[in-house]
Amino acid sequence: MKVKRIEHIGIAVNHLEEAIRFYEDVLGLSCYGVEEVPDQKVRTAFFKVGDTKIELLESTDPEGPIGRFIEKKGEGIHHMAFAVDETAPALAEAAEKGIRLIDEKPRKGAEGLNIGFLHPKSTLGVLTEFCSDK
Ligand code: ZN
Repeated sequence: MKVKRIEHIGIAVNHLEEAIRFYEDVLGLSCYGVEEVPDQKVRTAFFKVGDTKIELLESTDPEGPIGRFIEKKGEGIHHMAFAVDETAPALAEAAEKGIRLIDEKPRKGAEGLNIGFLHPKSTLGVLTEFCSDK
């Protein structure tokens, strides 16, 4: 597999609107999209930072993955996403190398991308996402 770049960094936040204000007022970035992803029980907001993005994640359900993450660890960096050519073979290749997967097969994430997660127990504690438009 070839990782092309860091596609985005996912950050878990308590309040999306407050978090957007920080990124806009303090860092001078501009939010170009807010999207709900029911599958992951989150609302997301996106900012471009050069070739990469910041993805803010607010939970819509305390039992969802971001709700549980914040409950355990509080707000903060949740995952790092790498752009790959195609998510399915990248997941398969990682599995072949003994990496534990959260997603055996890609699913639809924000912005219509095909995404899949590797388990942080296999990736030095960093929840790792692959994403591609294929
Ligand atoms: Zn992500």
